[in-house]
Amino acid sequence: MYPDATCALLHHNPWELLVATILSAQCTDKRVNEVTPGLFAKYPTPRDFAAVRPEVLANDIRSTGFFNNKAKSIVGAAQRVVNEFGGQVPNTIEEMLTIPGAARKTANVVLGTAYGIASGVVVDTHVSRISQRLDLTKNTDPVKIEQDLVKIIPKERWILFSHQIILHGRALCTARSPECERCDLNSLCYAADKRV
Ligand code: SF4
Repeated sequence: MYPDATCALLHHNPWELLVATILSAQCTDKRVNEVTPGLFAKYPTPRDFAAVRPEVLANDIRSTGFFNNKAKSIVGAAQRVVNEFGGQVPNTIEEMLTIPGAARKTANVVLGTAYGIASGVVVDTHVSRISQRLDLTKNTDPVKIEQDLVKIIPKERWILFSHQIILHGRALCTARSPECERCDLNSLCYAADKRV
């Protein structure tokens, strides 16, 4: 159904994807994509972000919501990337998880999409909901859902799977009113809140 699914966040390198992913918390990708081109023109490198005061950055990212926390995370992430990793976003999950603002979901997004490294499965709200609907997990905690998914999805599909499920969650399998009559997975789906 979604053979060409990919990450919708605009970016040119791993650092820009890390910033965009932090900004995408509780915000649409569309809104993030309206903010990031101007943001990256103003602060072209991690060093530029590391040098800015969070209060100043918060003003630049205000429209993405939760801007004070996001600004602190981004400045903290920039300082760590500059001071500990020579200005390059690291490419292992262990190192990524030491970066402020980068929990497993963010780390998996950056490693999978920017580096092509299958470090795990991105579990966001869409992946949580749809994995439950399709009986791929009975868990509700994202870390446990990811542990279930990596056991049953072949590793070579981990990166694509998340992109596909996220697209499915936006296109048809929405939280409130899934369009089950148009869904190709209908005959495989036994979700309690299925609408046919
Ligand atoms: S049949 Fe409905 S609930 Fe099941 S995956 Fe498709 S859209 Fe989602």
